[in-house]
Amino acid sequence: MNLNKIIKLKNLRDQKLDMRKNKEEYIFYNKNGNVFIGLATIMVFLLIIMSIIFLNVSNDSNQINNDAIDSNSFNYMIQDYNRNIPVLGKDIMGKIANDTIHNYVPCSDSPNTIKKRLQEKLDEKNEEIGNNNNIMMESEVLSVYNGNNPYHVNIKTHIHGKKGNLEYDEVIESVVKIEGLKDPLPFLMCKNKPNLSENGTKIIYHDSLEAYFIENNLLNPYAYNNASSPLIIKKCPYDPYEHHGDGHTLKNCIDNGYYHESADGACYLCRLEGKGVCNHYGLETFIVPNKVNELNFRSISSSDHVIFNDHYPGENLGFYKNGSIYEILFLDDSHRAKYGVEHLSYI
Ligand SMILES: [Zn+2]
Ligand SMILES: [Zn+2]
Repeated sequence: MNLNKIIKLKNLRDQKLDMRKNKEEYIFYNKNGNVFIGLATIMVFLLIIMSIIFLNVSNDSNQINNDAIDSNSFNYMIQDYNRNIPVLGKDIMGKIANDTIHNYVPCSDSPNTIKKRLQEKLDEKNEEIGNNNNIMMESEVLSVYNGNNPYHVNIKTHIHGKKGNLEYDEVIESVVKIEGLKDPLPFLMCKNKPNLSENGTKIIYHDSLEAYFIENNLLNPYAYNNASSPLIIKKCPYDPYEHHGDGHTLKNCIDNGYYHESADGACYLCRLEGKGVCNHYGLETFIVPNKVNELNFRSISSSDHVIFNDHYPGENLGFYKNGSIYEILFLDDSHRAKYGVEHLSYI
């Protein structure tokens, strides 16, 4: 063999060796590749499953969050709705009182009138809520009535609300606090001579109460010429009432125009109807005669239910003196005892 032939044979052998080596490597890689593809498939599969689980969990928690938000906003809306009922009720009562005072015409069947007007307001509000919040609201005002507290008027309402699968259905009792409302009774009692005036806090009767006295043939009409009484319902803080005899308490009470609880006095609902007295537990206030410089005369006792209904007399009580001028009430024995002012008599 010559050298060239030997070299060729060597190259050939090397090529064969390379081919075998490549084949082995190829087989090796192929085996590893299969393992890799298998692993990758499992990984992708696991990844898809995990993604599905994650998305489900995430959707569920979104749903839970959305439900919680829905439930919170629904509950808030209902609470807000319920809180608004006494506000609307008071507003309606204030308007009725204003109309009554302005026109000298009593409200007929005040609980029913308030009930109807409140129902109208709630119907409007329900429609508004339905349009804006996609909540179905229904409500029915069941009754408007006096409670045990004469400074409160109670309202009973059936409320039904529905949004999706959220639902509310309750009969609720709301309390309207009448403090701050105007007292229409004096205007209605003196409607035959309707020239009373008010200054925002007090009613001045001019000669209208005197005319009422003459009309009803009551004792000493002139004593109440230019009398005054409170315009706004305010609860007297001097409780127990017997303390009105301490120092200048009675004068402070009268200057501030306070009202007192009274079984004989008219409740607020009946005051709107122009009734000076009623069977409900009610209120009384003082109607204060004009100041005088002598105390030697009598007239009807100065509690408003006495002047506007019971018509019994009281003795002159000078409760404050400035120079020779007295500020006075006329008070019967039982009212003197109620307010603890027996010792103030004839000062
Ligand atoms: Zn008082
Ligand atoms: Zn009443």
